[in-house]
Amino acid sequence: MKILVLGAGGFIGSHLVKRLKEEGHWVRGADRKIPEFGTPDMDSFRLGDLRNINFCHEIFDKQYDEVYQLAAEMGGAGYGFTGENDAEIMHNSALINLNIISHYRSYKRIFFSSSVCVYSGWNQGNDMREDKAYPANPLFDYGWEKLSSERLYFAFHRNHGVDIRIARYQNTFGEEGTWKGGREKAIAALCRKIAEAKDGDEIEMWGDGEQTRPFIHVSETVEGTIRIMRSGHTGPFNLGTDETITINRLAEMIMEIADKKVYIKHIEGPTGAQRRMSNSDLLYEKLGWKPTKPIMEGLEKTYPWILEQVKRSQS
Ligand code: NAD
Repeated sequence: MKILVLGAGGFIGSHLVKRLKEEGHWVRGADRKIPEFGTPDMDSFRLGDLRNINFCHEIFDKQYDEVYQLAAEMGGAGYGFTGENDAEIMHNSALINLNIISHYRSYKRIFFSSSVCVYSGWNQGNDMREDKAYPANPLFDYGWEKLSSERLYFAFHRNHGVDIRIARYQNTFGEEGTWKGGREKAIAALCRKIAEAKDGDEIEMWGDGEQTRPFIHVSETVEGTIRIMRSGHTGPFNLGTDETITINRLAEMIMEIADKKVYIKHIEGPTGAQRRMSNSDLLYEKLGWKPTKPIMEGLEKTYPWILEQVKRSQS
């Protein structure tokens, strides 16, 4: 197949490209940055801004069998939950999606990466079934943008017959993801802080650490993405695991792997929803598959990779 991956320079996008190349497809990637941690073997890579309609004309110069739309303004709590980047998130990600859907004649099928952040603040710890995103009240503008872009893709599906697939990704972690700089997410930030600390040191954590989260390793996000894309169902599907842990427990698990004891100093900071669970029943019902890898298994790969990056940056 001829496949286009948008956001191919990013974390999940670069893992997805690797996997699609292993399957033997012709793959073009596009992003405003080249993949940070080694360029996966792509047939074509276009560097440019997807907000720019002329750049989009260029990359949609051929007919694709599949388009994976992963490009977005993205970051962890420090970027997405403070309110300081809302205008950038709403404007830029919306513009990217408008440009991409307007080229719908250039592809047979499109996958859009939405987020579990679409669920209402009051709902996140309770019932996160796909049909419970409405009445809508996401906690952050990041979730509002994802929800309105889901609607954009569905509107084109209904009115113009565009073949769409939508997954609501859960917190994804793993090797070759952003691990410093302010856009890193909780697991990467904790791995980095623990890797940088000496035994007995103190590290800071936003909030009391009792907020619960499910986490999914990037290999399963990629697996689920491809399965949803090739299924006969539009979604939206939650794509996540049913294992939920507190951030404090997460820190303990990383310390076990690092074989270090560090002390946590809880400080004020953006934490997001206090409780977030997941529900992958619909995915399992329709596809007969759901992510099952334990968090520990993913951490055992992720921590050594971040430790390596820390050592390199210090040498
Ligand atoms: P990422 O930030 O690593 O990747 C997104 C990519 O989009 C980046 O490489 C960025 O350069 C690119 N991009 C942004 N604006 C662009 C523009 N104007 N032009 C060209 N490229 C642009 O994020 P990720 O973790 O790989 O996430 C991929 C997708 O999954 C995103 O849409 C994100 O919102 C969604 N998602 C991720 C998670 C997660 O835990 N990682 C959870 C829920 C949803």
